[in-house]
Amino acid sequence: MQLYKSQPLKIHNSLSGSKELFEPLNEGHVGMYVCGPTVYSNVHLGNCRTFLSFDMIFRYLRHLGYKVRYVRNITDAGHLEDDADEGEDKIAKKARLEQIEPMEVVQRYTVDFHNILQKFNILPPSIEPTATGHIIEQIEIIKEILENGFAYEANGSVYFDVVKFNKSHAYGKLSGRKLEDMIANTRDLTAQDEKRNPQDFALWKRAEPQHIMRWPSPWGDGFPGWHLECTAMSTKYLGKTFDIHGGGMDLKFPHHECEIAQAEASYGKSPVNYWLHANMLTLNGKKMAKSTGNNILPNEIFTGENNIFSKPFSPAVVRFFMMQAHYSSILDLSESALLASEKGYHRLMEAMEALEWLNTSSSSDFDVAAWRQKCYDAMNDDFNTPILIAHLFEAVKQINLIKERKSDITQEDKELLQASMQAFVYDLLGLEGKTAGGAADSNKLDGVMELLISLRNEARANRDFATSDRIRDQLAALGIQLKDGKEGTSFSVSG
Ligand SMILES: [Zn+2]
Repeated sequence: MQLYKSQPLKIHNSLSGSKELFEPLNEGHVGMYVCGPTVYSNVHLGNCRTFLSFDMIFRYLRHLGYKVRYVRNITDAGHLEDDADEGEDKIAKKARLEQIEPMEVVQRYTVDFHNILQKFNILPPSIEPTATGHIIEQIEIIKEILENGFAYEANGSVYFDVVKFNKSHAYGKLSGRKLEDMIANTRDLTAQDEKRNPQDFALWKRAEPQHIMRWPSPWGDGFPGWHLECTAMSTKYLGKTFDIHGGGMDLKFPHHECEIAQAEASYGKSPVNYWLHANMLTLNGKKMAKSTGNNILPNEIFTGENNIFSKPFSPAVVRFFMMQAHYSSILDLSESALLASEKGYHRLMEAMEALEWLNTSSSSDFDVAAWRQKCYDAMNDDFNTPILIAHLFEAVKQINLIKERKSDITQEDKELLQASMQAFVYDLLGLEGKTAGGAADSNKLDGVMELLISLRNEARANRDFATSDRIRDQLAALGIQLKDGKEGTSFSVSG
């Protein structure tokens, strides 16, 4: 039996504002779409938090036994500097400044994006489509919206008619905004404006002669509006209505609101059953922004080359830090928080190691089955990873007591505890331990360490302390700590 049948999952749906029982459209299958990056600069840490959150959600759905089709796009055209359809295309601007082709910009930052996500142990999505690869699909949707009367053409551009749409549909239902309030708070249109109302948004923009990224369309050469690509790619691969749509909180309005409007105006259907939004990451209590210098790139944390933290932190520690907060709450990054996470991460990994070698008894003092269900209850409550982690540390405490022979566990319970800890720590939270490189690598490491430890013992026996200290110190420099105990020397590897 699949786990999802015995583990009912509740998800906070941004559309209804409440926690709902998750029921996919097709039993056993989940379609999930997450807005990906606009690849015109290095991926920032706040975006990484969004992708880490949805990676955890993807992993948990798969763990429950669902077949998940996870689509995460790459925006490689159409994203203008300004949400109000003004300013330059972000990628075209970077290409102009660096005097390279727009597709060189796209290639460079797509590679960077994949590289960083891999360091964080984020699984690749099932499909990663690009906006430029779906121009035809986008044009088809515009034609349908025009035919249904919810868009109009002006000088080679096509705009979505928000005011007309709102007469028969509810524009603003996801973000909780009312069109009347939006109208009251915006400037009047000027004579040069092509839009009928300031709230209207571009589905297609006419390309000026100097604009490099351009495609032919029934309305002349141009390029698609940013919101349209996500409607085209999500419905193409997941169907006109699908289960989960995710993204950062900042995309709720206007981006996701416009996606709903486009889908309803073209297909006459609400596109998404569950909307999920991941919250923001702040740095030392303040919003991250390049302009104020309160900003750090993922690689700058991993290498320690930055003016904000006194030491480097590994991707696994940063990932663990992010998992210690609920995906929908604001999380503040600081040196003290990272140091605490690093300590916790090592305690957890040491317990994972110790768990393998625990002696078993004829009785258990730890109710592993009840503990395991508490872990699932936490995850089933809108993916509550901080509560899950609190339960994992309850197990760490028990493991250490058993190790010190102050508590007992049966063989059967030990096996259940091992399987559960591995599932929660490695598969769900995506943390990598000593064995993350695979069992073969781990065996090799064990063999090499055995050799080094015996050479060090020989040196010590010969009172050659210069050599024995050199072995210990150089291993420490590589992040491998030796511990001398009654039963000989053991080692641990830090993340
Ligand atoms: Zn999107």
